[in-house]
Amino acid sequence: MTFFRHKLALWIAAAGVLLLLPALAPAATIDKVVNVNVFVYCDNSGANCASTGPSGDLFFATEVNKIWAQAGIQVDFTLSGYRDSTNYMNIDDASAGHKFCEIYNSCVFNNLSSTVETLLLVHTIAGAYGEGWIGAGGMVIAMDTVMAYNSGAGRLDTIAHELGHNLGLVPGTSAEFDGSFHDIYANDLMASGGIRNTPTALNQISTDGLTGLDRLPADQVTTARASDLLQNAPEPGTWLLMSCGMGGILLLRRRNA
Ligand SMILES: [Zn+2]
Repeated sequence: MTFFRHKLALWIAAAGVLLLLPALAPAATIDKVVNVNVFVYCDNSGANCASTGPSGDLFFATEVNKIWAQAGIQVDFTLSGYRDSTNYMNIDDASAGHKFCEIYNSCVFNNLSSTVETLLLVHTIAGAYGEGWIGAGGMVIAMDTVMAYNSGAGRLDTIAHELGHNLGLVPGTSAEFDGSFHDIYANDLMASGGIRNTPTALNQISTDGLTGLDRLPADQVTTARASDLLQNAPEPGTWLLMSCGMGGILLLRRRNA
């Protein structure tokens, strides 16, 4: 029994070291998380549903997470459901019955959530790749247009950009502000779609907010991190305790065996 306890102690120590290593890495600490509830729009019969993104990289989750890692934010996507609506699977904000704001019941009065994030995937949006509320949950992405971009490689940063609006970005009153919701620097994530240099590969995305594409300057990081859409990510110590708990369970099972 002494030998067995010794082995168990070693096992827990090894697990602890492995789990702590990512926290010690030099990259920005990921200490906040946003949970994104995804709804896919289909026609009235439930067919012809919008794309959920590239196979193996649904919702462009890899690119979205690399971009938002600059702010220490992890983005978790959950496919929450399908909505059968021929009217809203193609958004046109100039046409009653097809408007983005109607889905959120917010065209006339503010009925938006500051704590719940939702991502709507539709086929098209008249005149846009995406739309998002500023400082509240809710964005819609024109997946036909986004997926066809760059000869079918896809527009990698549209979801990340709209998420930025939801997290409160306009670029504020800083020197970056273009006077109309966006950033004047084409290499910044929050530059408007008309001027933004969008990445065509993962390695073009900035990791420091200074170089590369889809940069998030420090003042925008501060604004985004204050959003109520975010929750605190689990602390590394929590994972260590959980691993110890698992070790205990392992011990009990082996004793019973
Ligand atoms: Zn925008």
